[in-house]
Amino acid sequence: MPTAKTRVRFAPSPTGLLHVGNARTALYNWLFARHTGGEFLLRIEDTDVERSEARYEALLIEDLRWLGLDWDEGPEAPGPHAPYRQSERLGIYRESTERLLQEGKAYRCFCTAEDLEEERRQSSERQEAQMYSGVCRRLSREQSERRAAAGEPYAVRLAIPEEPLRFHDIVRGDVEFSSDTVSDPILVRTSGMPVYNYVVTIDDALMEITHVIRGDDHLSNTPKQVAIYRAFGWKLPEFAHLSTILGPDRERLSKRHGATSISSFREMGILPEALTNYLALLGWGAEGGKRETFTLDELAREFKLERVTPSPAVFDADKLHWLNRHYMKEASPEVLEALAWPGFSQRGWLPQDPTAAGPGVQEWFRRVLALWLPAVDRLDQLPQKAAPLWICDPGEARRDPENAALLDSDAGRQVIAALRKSIETSAGAIAAESFKAMVNQVKAETGVKGKELFHPIRIALTGAHSGPEFDKLIPLIEEGSSLRLPSHVPSVRERLEMGWTAPGAVRSAEAT
Ligand code: GLU
Repeated sequence: MPTAKTRVRFAPSPTGLLHVGNARTALYNWLFARHTGGEFLLRIEDTDVERSEARYEALLIEDLRWLGLDWDEGPEAPGPHAPYRQSERLGIYRESTERLLQEGKAYRCFCTAEDLEEERRQSSERQEAQMYSGVCRRLSREQSERRAAAGEPYAVRLAIPEEPLRFHDIVRGDVEFSSDTVSDPILVRTSGMPVYNYVVTIDDALMEITHVIRGDDHLSNTPKQVAIYRAFGWKLPEFAHLSTILGPDRERLSKRHGATSISSFREMGILPEALTNYLALLGWGAEGGKRETFTLDELAREFKLERVTPSPAVFDADKLHWLNRHYMKEASPEVLEALAWPGFSQRGWLPQDPTAAGPGVQEWFRRVLALWLPAVDRLDQLPQKAAPLWICDPGEARRDPENAALLDSDAGRQVIAALRKSIETSAGAIAAESFKAMVNQVKAETGVKGKELFHPIRIALTGAHSGPEFDKLIPLIEEGSSLRLPSHVPSVRERLEMGWTAPGAVRSAEAT
């Protein structure tokens, strides 16, 4: 007998940006669907009219796509269970409520906010759990209908039967709540708006969801949802509640731990492959190994819900950076160029449009990236690393006392003067080989060697006493200076002429 297809859903509320926790939920659902050859749905839970915004829905969709996820049914991919936005399904919820009221599985509750407050006060005085007393559950059908017909406002509550509420959770095993710890939950508010627990259950059942995979912040909602499934006589899905994600201080991950939204990681130049790989490992591990790098396809092949751990996962930015370095190395030069370009064009160093800049500039820029990529965790750190190509400022360099001491020492002055002289007597662009020969000549002439020789030269070329090898740097400087860029890259010769050894002399390359 063919087994039924698995169907899972990601059901975000469009009340803010997509964060690490929800993105992991979306990813696990997607991986599970792809692994089992099932279907993945996107459903927008926008019944909280005050907090839901269409722009957040658009941003959520953009972030999910950027992560590389796709869905078989959703607001933009309508399927047999449309609509996929809860605000467009209110008619379905109303009919369901009629049915429950008819069948006596739900009842109208006329208690006012004051009545309920008074109940709460009394139970706290008696030091009892705050449960709804069920006054309105005891009204007769006639009483209830008469009061409703007279226009008295009411909410609708589910009549929870007195039997334990049990469900199986793939991550946590069997879970049981006694019905006396669960008040008859409100299904529809006095305003007529249905509540989350109610609509999520109706939609999951009608959309034939087989596995509900979500964050464990919803664990305490599940018994209420189980009671709703029972009231309608629907089969329960399987549940899988994913552990909480913690910050390094083991508190729940939040904004105060730094970036947590997917869009902020994208802006930082974290590659989507790195983020999905990282999120997958945040609570899951592949069978039998220590393997840590997986493409999305590989994850889909390996992913099993049974291997999701119930213990909380700790967000580790270093590991994310490690994976990002791995995927930056794997990425093609074209992809890296496209991703890194805006960071340089925004600073006015490169033209806006890479194609209009021409193949010469593009090819040169790819070499710039290749030189500094090993020194960064994220693409947004590249402009700062490669800045010395465009900005060479003796005043700025001298702010570092170590730089100033190196430049002002006798050795430093001699080295700079000798190198200037040898460059003045040379003609044309300086190749890496000829630069090396000049440095050797300076060494022979001055007798200065090692750090005392190389550091002042490096400062005069880049403004800093450490950085990439001269062999790679010199050609990039020289070729960059011959390109037509919005901000000039000073040549080796221009750099040497900037007055390094005259204390206090300040001259910015950008002013030239
Ligand atoms: N809209 C709910 C949320 O964003 C979905 C919960 C669920 O998956 O059941 O938390």
